Amino acid sequence: MAAETVFGKIVAGEIPVEILAETERVIAFPDISPQAPVHILVIPKSTEYRDVTELAAGDPGLLAELVSVAKSLAEEHAGGEFRLVFNTGAGAGQTVFHVHAHLLAGALEERSLL
Ligand code: 5GP
Repeated sequence: MAAETVFGKIVAGEIPVEILAETERVIAFPDISPQAPVHILVIPKSTEYRDVTELAAGDPGLLAELVSVAKSLAEEHAGGEFRLVFNTGAGAGQTVFHVHAHLLAGALEERSLL
């Protein structure tokens, strides 16, 4: 089980966000500090997985569902072409240890680490 994170609080409804997509196991909401014209976070509701390697090993179907939700959002918000970024490890820029996909579309901000 991952330590409690800001995304756990979002899943629990303790921090309000604009929910852009939701399934039984996944939610998506805008990044609070967008690095591109479209910058959406797609996360599992489960707090069990700290990063994408743990998710891929523990529940590959849930990882596939994240990708599927990202694709639908990209079609809705960005004409279907997009980047998916999983920062994995603090040295790679991960700051929230609840696995999340950054769905990015359009030009990235200059010098963005994403
Ligand atoms: P990481 O650096 O772990 O790959 O990405 C974490 C992301 O979460 C960052 O892009 C950051 O802007 C975003 N973020 C952190 N706290 C919040 C929050 O309270 N609400 C939202 N919507 N995004 C957050």
